Amino acid sequence: MTDAVVFRGGRVFTGRRYADALLIEAGRVVAVGTDAEVARQAPTGAERREIPGRLIVPGLVDAHLHLAEIVRQRHGPAIADAGSFRDVAGRVAAWAAVHPGGPVVGRGWDPERWSDRRWPDRRALDASTGDRPTILYHASGHAALANTAALREAGIDPDRPAPDDPAFGRAADGRPDGLLFEDAMRAVGPVAEAAGAIDGPSLARVLSELVGRGITAVGTMATSAAELAALAELDADGRLPIEVRAYVRLGDAPRHRVSEGAPASRRLRVTGVKAFLDGAFGPRTAWLGAPYADAPSTSGLAIGSEEELGTVLGAAAERGLAPAVHAIGDRAVDRALRLLAPLVGRTPAPVRIEHVGLTPPELLPALARVRPALVVQPGFVASDGWLSERLGRERSGEAYRFRTFRSLGLVVAGSSDAPFDPVDPWRGIRAAVRRRGEDGRSANPDPAESLPVEEALGLYTTGAAEALGMADRGRLEPGAPADLVVLSVARLGSALDAGPDGPSAETWVAGRPVDAGVRTGGP
Ligand SMILES: [Zn+2]
Repeated sequence: MTDAVVFRGGRVFTGRRYADALLIEAGRVVAVGTDAEVARQAPTGAERREIPGRLIVPGLVDAHLHLAEIVRQRHGPAIADAGSFRDVAGRVAAWAAVHPGGPVVGRGWDPERWSDRRWPDRRALDASTGDRPTILYHASGHAALANTAALREAGIDPDRPAPDDPAFGRAADGRPDGLLFEDAMRAVGPVAEAAGAIDGPSLARVLSELVGRGITAVGTMATSAAELAALAELDADGRLPIEVRAYVRLGDAPRHRVSEGAPASRRLRVTGVKAFLDGAFGPRTAWLGAPYADAPSTSGLAIGSEEELGTVLGAAAERGLAPAVHAIGDRAVDRALRLLAPLVGRTPAPVRIEHVGLTPPELLPALARVRPALVVQPGFVASDGWLSERLGRERSGEAYRFRTFRSLGLVVAGSSDAPFDPVDPWRGIRAAVRRRGEDGRSANPDPAESLPVEEALGLYTTGAAEALGMADRGRLEPGAPADLVVLSVARLGSALDAGPDGPSAETWVAGRPVDAGVRTGGP
């Protein structure tokens, strides 16, 4: 008996070159080449699969998303595509009416999608859910709107002056307006987590949707104990369809060490620790070297002290946990490089900077010297069409510089940051090639930063695999795990225009086809 499969009659892209046929057996790639070369190595009884008009590529890897947050976003009211805050409030009220009891938690509101583009306050929300604590997270995940009841529950008196901290939004009368940024969001964290338990079936549903997109491995970031427990349970039951690498929360790091794969664990590993150095461009909390162009009174927020972060990350690295450091503004990237420099090479998986939003020329020599893996979100080029307003046109030309990063010879990994951007890797690949969204808008349209389609795919194959410490994946070469996607198109270029469901027809993990879930069109 053999489980060998020969794919032929179409094309194969190994990640490096094109071939006519592919042989996999016992979960690994055995041969790739011409029909004759592959046929020669195929054992008797190998299954032959004809794939006319189709292209096989390596399985896609998303190096940075948030599985638990995707589940939580699905549980709550759908507000991400609302056209105004009135629309948001209406949807929240309608959801609350059919989900009685407990707090209401929604995710994904974005004033950039509204005609007035005005940030809301708690009074506008109080009318929809009354006395039920309600927390709505901004699309970036770096700001939240709490209603009056949620502020009370979190111990913030709505009738007294707001805490003396720019992370707490305040109304004209000095009282809290319900907006919470960065660290201040922690105040309502327990209220929000009580609303969305992470159950195995919901998690499994999300994972099988990822399979439908062609994804065979992910890094799940800022993993909570509850998320890790739910993942471990699926893994122990053999119900984890793809490889999962967890980067635990900074505060939980002392309770973890890197797991090289306990016998009970097939597809789940704890790989690293996630730290935040700043916020995001949307809520103007990304930490910049010079003020925001559209809010000259602020340069964003630094999170944590450099000294403390250095100590905690160093201790985590001692236990093998690779640091993954969130840095979007240029000042945060600069701090990330100083923090990571002494940790390079000390952990099984590489040190990484997440997002690397703004990199003016003066930061490039240090990037080239420290050589962290850069975990980027090409989809943000399409999503952040307003970026030049925040940064000014000149500075936004220094944002999301994927080709520049590649030219420095760095590992550049593709990711979605879902649910904070759609999970679809093909949308990201398209944005890395075309530097624009479907609506024609762009955070930085500079054609010099555009990647050829094979290289854009490479962000989500070899690049993301290396960033997660899975260097044997992302290439369909002999000996590599047989993680692959059969595309419904014959050419990679055509994959970019395959429509909203994408071009992934079949996804194989470790040499076996995996059932894909029903897509809902959500993140
Ligand atoms: Zn993230």
